[in-house]
Amino acid sequence: MSVRIRADLEGIPGYVPGRTIPGAIKLASNESGVGPLPSVAKALESAGELINRYPDNNATSLTGKLAAKFGVDPRNVVVGCGSVMLCQELIQAVCTAEQRVAFGWRSFEAYPLLARTIGAEPVMVPNTASHALDLRSLAEAINADAESVGLVFVCTPNNPTGTTLGADEIEEFVAAVPSHVTVVLDEAYREFAVDGSPDGTRFLTDAHGNPRDNVVVLRTFSKAYGLAGLRVGYAIGHPRLLDAVRAVHVPFTVNSLALAAAEASLDAEAELAERVADVVAERGRVIDELRAAGIEVVDSQANFVWLPLGDDTPRFDEFMTERKVIVRAFAADGARVTISTPADNDAFLSAAREWAAAER
Ligand code: PMP
Repeated sequence: MSVRIRADLEGIPGYVPGRTIPGAIKLASNESGVGPLPSVAKALESAGELINRYPDNNATSLTGKLAAKFGVDPRNVVVGCGSVMLCQELIQAVCTAEQRVAFGWRSFEAYPLLARTIGAEPVMVPNTASHALDLRSLAEAINADAESVGLVFVCTPNNPTGTTLGADEIEEFVAAVPSHVTVVLDEAYREFAVDGSPDGTRFLTDAHGNPRDNVVVLRTFSKAYGLAGLRVGYAIGHPRLLDAVRAVHVPFTVNSLALAAAEASLDAEAELAERVADVVAERGRVIDELRAAGIEVVDSQANFVWLPLGDDTPRFDEFMTERKVIVRAFAADGARVTISTPADNDAFLSAAREWAAAER
């Protein structure tokens, strides 16, 4: 006799995080290259005195602050243990095991894994030749068998390609998919977008201002706010949908330190804006210098860049690792490289120039 594991979980590899190698520069996980803001470090110290108590399971104070920031009711906001857990809770809240989860590909690696953990098959629609999500084809794929689809992830800026979507494109997409399908606008990297692409919260209502209960926006404190290690993200959407997320929520998964740090970060928006501006400036410099070296790189609105290296990807990955720069390689597609501090970016650029020279 042996323990019986769900047969449909066989062959699911589990999430593979970016590698960490002692002494190497890690540009593999889109983290902030700098530590927490001084005010956040202070908030963590005082929160540390309360860790004998369970955290507030409803994240009341942080939820209230986020609701005020976005001009919505607190029932329109739910806080989660990283936005990745909210992705999972949304799938659990709306999909049955017979239903499918749709998304463009490439996109965030966790989407297919999270779908499969509840037994839902992923529907993966290839990106356009210019590495952007193809929303028309995604809508077509959903409508080909709409009843079988429970949820669709739309990631903008898209991880790992850094591309964004226009307002008309998103509006057309939301109108094209049936209203029983939950549309998750995953905006983990929204704070870094400066191209005038729309803020997903505008799609929470239709053209007549009526609330949509099938659209939800995901944001995180892991990227621009630099709190990846504390695990806190949030969703903004219709109370009908978010009450279902609250129903499947695993209690106390957002810890007291995460709550305190996230709140303190919201009080430090000006300092954070400076940090974001630094990343945006560095992103422009890295893209320019890569192109000057003859390396193809996609325009990015996130805190990373996408190098569509195709079959050269594994070799590039190895070349970078030998030079103690850890990038994120995706099979025979390309490599994603996080924009970090000027010194880290210089180390990457120097290795990238070496690669380009060797390839000539
Ligand atoms: N969405 C996207 C598109 C991401 O890239 C990530 C992290 N890599 C997440 C969600 C999850 O972030 P977190 O759980 O740290 O909030």
